[in-house]
Amino acid sequence: MRSLTYKQKIWLLALLNGGTLLIATLYVIAYRYATAHGYGWFDCIVRDTIGIYCPSCGGSRSVNALLSLDLLGAWRYYPPIPITVLLLCEVDVRLCFDLLTRGERGMSTYRPWRWLIVLIAILVTFLVRLLAVTVWGVDPLGDLHLPA
Ligand SMILES: [Zn+2]
Repeated sequence: MRSLTYKQKIWLLALLNGGTLLIATLYVIAYRYATAHGYGWFDCIVRDTIGIYCPSCGGSRSVNALLSLDLLGAWRYYPPIPITVLLLCEVDVRLCFDLLTRGERGMSTYRPWRWLIVLIAILVTFLVRLLAVTVWGVDPLGDLHLPA
């Protein structure tokens, strides 16, 4: 199998980013429908059975807040989502730069290891919430109904 040309790689990345936005939008439509009609499709099994927040708790609300342009809400519900969006925007800026200048400078300085930031953010969010609930007795998302 022959490898992709630089231009094909750019279009592939643009399609991946556009696909991510489309999936996020469809996800939020389903989330809003379920929330409005009282369906528990997006309830967390880990939270409901073990009583702690899982590593992705608050993600749906964060995406929902973000698509409503509530940036602080998105950060409060789940910091890895706004961080991911910032990294995607950075890739998009690089792609636009390359397409407009017909050059390869933008993406040549792209470093995929930056996505480790998202993994670290997921881990830190999980650990801080775990400490908040188990040690400090604080419920950061208000879903656990901790005793006062
Ligand atoms: Zn969860």
